[in-house]
Amino acid sequence: MLGKLPEVQGVPVRRQFSDGNTVHCFSNSMTLTPRFVNPALNGHAAKLGNGQVSGDGEHELVLLTSPSPDLILDDEPITRSQKTDPELGQQVAEFLISKGVATPQIETGLDETQKRTLIAHHFARIMQALGLDLRDDSLADTPRRVAQMYVDEIFYGLDWRNFPKCTTVENKMGYSSMVVERNINVQSNCEHHFVIIDGRAHVAYIPQKKVLGLSKINRVVEYFAKRPQIQERLTEQIFYALSYILETEDIAVVIQAKHYCVKSRGVEDVNSDTVTSKLGGLFLHSTATRSEFMRVVNTVIAP
Ligand SMILES: [Zn+2]
Repeated sequence: MLGKLPEVQGVPVRRQFSDGNTVHCFSNSMTLTPRFVNPALNGHAAKLGNGQVSGDGEHELVLLTSPSPDLILDDEPITRSQKTDPELGQQVAEFLISKGVATPQIETGLDETQKRTLIAHHFARIMQALGLDLRDDSLADTPRRVAQMYVDEIFYGLDWRNFPKCTTVENKMGYSSMVVERNINVQSNCEHHFVIIDGRAHVAYIPQKKVLGLSKINRVVEYFAKRPQIQERLTEQIFYALSYILETEDIAVVIQAKHYCVKSRGVEDVNSDTVTSKLGGLFLHSTATRSEFMRVVNTVIAP
């Protein structure tokens, strides 16, 4: 771990040492901001890591708790094939904030490798607290696998830089009928228990100036599903993202999903599911449009 830190976020680290669980880094650069050192990283980071100038003019930051020797991180993150559009992702993120439907998030300043390291370290502690023996062959790698799964797979949608590329084309044909994309796979995780939400989304829009490739709708749904979620917010985020991209409010989003935190624990209801919807523009104000959409969707939902 120590040998792999010649710089932190592009800032050269002059020297570093480790005392037990904590890596201390020293730099002469002012760009080691307090923001980088989040108290959430470890219990004593705030005190040690304020970016304060130490006796000999260096800025100290506490990087993170060092992982156990058995937590060797893969250097190769899983790569997703889909193309991303960070610029659009940032615009959509800001739009969701303006609509009050953003996921509550803080800026950690951590890059993906640092996130994986930190999560693996803490997940190992969780497993140990549960009494699991991490020296066992089968368990030893679990913290690393969970960290990689969280950062690269099931929660990659927390990072707006991973927003899918959604090139729109001008609606030259003047197509003005409803476009419905049905049965979009929704695999998410509930933010209250971190267990699976499993369902389907049905999305419709009425093109005005812009038309979007249908597979892009699936990508937008997938992106927002890959965060800890509540179904209501997931529905709203998909709605407003598409509204921003397509420049219209004539959008409908319906999600039907099973929550495994209801199915496998708590009330243990194996049959119930949850339906949420967000309707805008004509879908909200025109009875005929809404009826047409619901008729299309209900033919899908009915067994
Ligand atoms: Zn839950």
